[in-house]
Formats: sequence, C-alpha cells, structure tokens
Amino acid sequence: MTKPMTRTPARPPRCPICGKPATPGHRPFCSTRCANLDLGRWLDGNYRVATDETPDAAPDDGDER
Ligand SMILES: [Zn+2]
Repeated sequence: MTKPMTRTPARPPRCPICGKPATPGHRPFCSTRCANLDLGRWLDGNYRVATDETPDAAPDDGDER
C-alpha cells in the first residue's frame, strides 16, 4: 500500500480569497469573481512596486533619507 503521489481528491482546495471550497471550474478559487480579485490584487501589487521604485513622487516636504 504505497501512497500515490497525486493530489488528494478528497476535498477541494479552499478559495484563498473568501475561504469557500474551490469549484472545479475556477480552481483554486470558488468563482470567477474571486479569481479576478486575486489577479487584480497581484497586478496591483506589481504596479505598486513599479510605482514605488520611481523616486519622482509627490514632493510633500523635505523627507530625509
Ligand atoms: Zn472565493
């Protein structure tokens, strides 16, 4: 009795967004909405990093480094 190196089909993964059980059509999310949310979050983070790297921010006041 060796354990097959496959994913456990017992219970589906949980949606990382809302925690609901994922659906086969939107794994690992529960719905398209959550998938889009995650994607948007990821993209937003990427953009944030890119924007954060630009030193040309709004000059509020003499911000020392
Ligand atoms: Zn969800």
